[in-house]
Amino acid sequence: MTKFPIHVHLGDGREFLVTELDPVMASVKVGGKWLQEREIVQPIIVGLLTSTCQSGDTFVCDKCGVRHAYRGWVTGYGTNSAGEKICYECCREFDKEWMSENDKITLYLTQATTGRWRVTNWPGTLRFRVDETRKGKHNITGTRYDVWFTDREGNRWWGVSYGENSQLCHCRKLKGSG
Ligand SMILES: [Zn+2]
Repeated sequence: MTKFPIHVHLGDGREFLVTELDPVMASVKVGGKWLQEREIVQPIIVGLLTSTCQSGDTFVCDKCGVRHAYRGWVTGYGTNSAGEKICYECCREFDKEWMSENDKITLYLTQATTGRWRVTNWPGTLRFRVDETRKGKHNITGTRYDVWFTDREGNRWWGVSYGENSQLCHCRKLKGSG
């Protein structure tokens, strides 16, 4: 059973809420339109399930086979396009592999109370310290934040986040780095 809502990130950086999922066709329905999996940058991501998880409930991760407890109000797992449950730790491995093999990823830009900026994956299990931040103007969203960070393989990444109301950070691996 696939849990909703699921978010998908498309190649152009947009994020959508999935309303229907067809694992056989490897496609998802967003905004009344069916999309093929190849159009989605990150086929994994998100299963918030606040109303139906009970404290003490558990799930088995379809990747590592480990049984996990639900965490508070959230499931503690992401759901991929095949409907598999992926624990936060496996999300980290998935995202790490994705960043190794691809030059684009959508992550989240957050600022700690100390003022330090960080880029993380959706569950926050993969984190990068931002070493350069530039706040600029954007004609539609008002502001934009450009950030730079280095992954564990030594590759340099540049990310941009638009406006004050979104944490989505559209990241690209810089050529010739690493
Ligand atoms: Zn797992």
